[in-house]
Amino acid sequence: MTPAPRHVRVAVVGSGPAGLTAALYLSRAELAPVVVSGVPAGGQLMLTTDVENFPGFPEGIQGPELVEKIRAQAARFGTEFLDANVTAVDFTRRPFRLELGAAGTLLADAVVVATGADARWLDLPSEQRLRGHGVSACATCDGFFFKGVPLACVGGGDSALEEALFLTRFATHVTVIHRRSEMRASRIMQARALANKKISFLLDSEVVEVLGEGKVTGVKVRHVPSGKLSDLAVQGLFVAIGHEPATRVFRDALALDEHGYIATERITRTSVEGVFAAGDVYDHRYRQAVSAAGLGCMAALDAERYLAEHPADGSSHPPST
Ligand code: NAP
Repeated sequence: MTPAPRHVRVAVVGSGPAGLTAALYLSRAELAPVVVSGVPAGGQLMLTTDVENFPGFPEGIQGPELVEKIRAQAARFGTEFLDANVTAVDFTRRPFRLELGAAGTLLADAVVVATGADARWLDLPSEQRLRGHGVSACATCDGFFFKGVPLACVGGGDSALEEALFLTRFATHVTVIHRRSEMRASRIMQARALANKKISFLLDSEVVEVLGEGKVTGVKVRHVPSGKLSDLAVQGLFVAIGHEPATRVFRDALALDEHGYIATERITRTSVEGVFAAGDVYDHRYRQAVSAAGLGCMAALDAERYLAEHPADGSSHPPST
């Protein structure tokens, strides 16, 4: 039997660094937040191995361990976690309504949305097998581990060229592999990449297999017009073919930008008063664990201020948008 709807002051949707940091702040403000963790929980950090750029861990920390630590810190102050996914929302009236499937319905006076974004992948079995062992979707996170070796970067947009340029700090050479003859990236990024002697381009080409057993030793590339296959020896593959924000359930409830990310005003405020956004679900620029955590803190402080102005009187009036 589905449980009866439960009314809480504040719900947090998502349990990556943004959602967990929001929960930490909200629980320390004694607002007893309920985190709808998402299944699987923890966000992109759960797929990351060494994290060396999150302050406070001079020896580095594994992504899943970092998630576990922030989660324990939030739990210590009374955060409750629900292992469920939000399947639908109604943000047209207060309290806001979150449908959780078999886990029932959560009613909340304020909501922090921190559902993140997923990197797009090539969807090759070899790519998935070698993720974290030479295959990455984040040069800022992992570039440092590839000093003095040749690398490849897939994609023809600004992200691919930005990643390739960043990777030249460490790599001996970076080959950008793009499936068409024309790049999608802005002219200025193309000019920068073309001017960099460490970058070369394999156009009209797609990666059909990532080579290597325990770690990447190369990629098999197909020249699209001729179908000809060739191997390229590299020790790392960076996939930079875009990100997909996890906003499907919010698309009729909140304003999204042209790429599907939540549109915000003054950092965390969404188009619905009382609903706040934090982390990669709207920030497609920085996309770092530490910046997501910082945004989680900001969303919590904004939600706390909003709740102080909207006492828990059970009133059900439409929110101003
Ligand atoms: P994007 O502009 O959508 O480019 C994605 C690239 O990946 C495209 O070249 C696309 O090829 C390729 N691609 C997609 N799926 C693929 C697949 N399955 N196999 C092989 N290639 C595939 O994404 P983005 O580069 O992440 O940029 C997103 C937005 O952020 C853009 O508006 C961009 O301008 C902006 N951005 C700006 C900066 C900057 O200004 N410094 C930096 C990063 C991002 P096709 O071209 O053939 O479709």
